[in-house]
Amino acid sequence: TRTPVNVTVTGAAGQIGYALLFRIASGHLLGQDVPVKLRLLEIPQGVKAAEGTAMELDDCAFPLLQGIDIFDDPNKGFEGANIGLLVGARPRGPGMERGDLLAANGGIFKPQGKAINDHAADDVKVLVVGNPANTNALIAQAAAPDVPAERFTAMTRLDHNRALSQLSQKTGVPVSEIKKLTIWGNHSATQYPDIFHATVAGKNAAEVVNDEKWLAEDFIPTVAKRGAAIIDARGASSAASAANAAIDHIYSWVNGTPEGDWVSMGIPSDGSYGVPEGLISSFPVTTKDGKYEIVQGLDINEFSRARIDASVKELEEERAAVRELGLI
Ligand code: NDP
Repeated sequence: TRTPVNVTVTGAAGQIGYALLFRIASGHLLGQDVPVKLRLLEIPQGVKAAEGTAMELDDCAFPLLQGIDIFDDPNKGFEGANIGLLVGARPRGPGMERGDLLAANGGIFKPQGKAINDHAADDVKVLVVGNPANTNALIAQAAAPDVPAERFTAMTRLDHNRALSQLSQKTGVPVSEIKKLTIWGNHSATQYPDIFHATVAGKNAAEVVNDEKWLAEDFIPTVAKRGAAIIDARGASSAASAANAAIDHIYSWVNGTPEGDWVSMGIPSDGSYGVPEGLISSFPVTTKDGKYEIVQGLDINEFSRARIDASVKELEEERAAVRELGLI
C-alpha cells in the first residue's frame, strides 16, 4: 500500500475550499490509486466551519481519504505537506488601495512561506490560488529560501480552461481536440490568452478562426473578464471552476502532460520569452516526472508581443510594490 500524500489546503472553509476538498478526497487531485491526508488551515474564525466540512468529508466515506486535521497555525498546517494549495487570501475591500491589499496578503503569505520552508516535506509543491495569486506566490517563495524556487506556482489554469471553452464554442470543435493553447502573464485582467500556436482538430487555431477582430474584441476580453461575468450571473464567484482548475494544475504537474499538448502555469521565469527572471508569470509548459519545463522556440508575433509585455509590466509593478513593502 502506498503512503498517503499530505495535502494542505488554506482557506479550507471558503467557497473554493468547499468545492475543492471533496474532489481531492475522491482521488481527482493525484489519481485513483493515491491515498491522501488532508490538512486544513484556516484563520481562527474559520475553524468551526472547517470542522463542519470535515464532518461532511467523513460522511462521504472516501476510500482514499486517510485523515483530516484542522489547524489555525501555519507551522502545524504545513507539517509534512507534500502539496500546498494556498487558497485563502485577503480580498480587495471597498476603497482598498493596491498597497493595502499587497500588505494584507503579505501578512498571510509570508508566514505561510516560512512555515513551508521550515515544516513541509522535501518534495513540497505549492499552488497559489488566492489573489493576487502571482505576487502572493512570490511573497511565499521569498520566505522559503530552502525550498527550490520552482516549487512555487500560481494558478492560470482556470484562464486556460476558459479559453479552451471559448475557442471550442467559436469553432464548433470539442475541447478534447484543442491543443497547445497558452495563457501568458499575470492572472488578472491583463492576462493574454494566445491561440496562435494552438491547434483545433489538428489545424492552426488562428487560421481556422481567421478573425483578428473577434480575437481582440471578443475572445481576449471574454476570457479575462469571465470571473466578473459569473459573479453578475450567479451572484457568487466562480468557486467550482476555480477549484476544478486547481485540481487540473496539480494533476498535470504530478502526472505529466500528454504528448503533443501543453498547459499554462504561473511559474518563476528563467528569462524565457523576454519575461524578467524571477517573476512568477504564466507560460506554456510541459510536465514529466513531477517537473515542468517551459515550451521553447515559439514565434511570438507583434499582436502577442504587445500583450505579453503589458501583462509582464503589471507583474513587474506588483513585484516592485512588494519589494518596497519589504515583503520580498
Ligand atoms: P473563495 O474561496 O471564494 O476565494 C479564495 C481566494 O481565491 C480569493 O483570494 C479569490 O480571489 C481567489 N480566487 C482565485 N480564482 C478565483 C475564482 N475563479 N473565483 C473565485 N475566487 C478566486 O473565498 P472565501 O471568502 O469564500 O473563502 C476564503 C477563506 O479563506 C475563508 O474561509 C477565510 O477564513 C480563509 N482565509 C484563510 C487564511 C489562512 O488560512 N491563513 C488567510 C485568509 C483567509 P478574489 O478575491 O480575487 O476573488
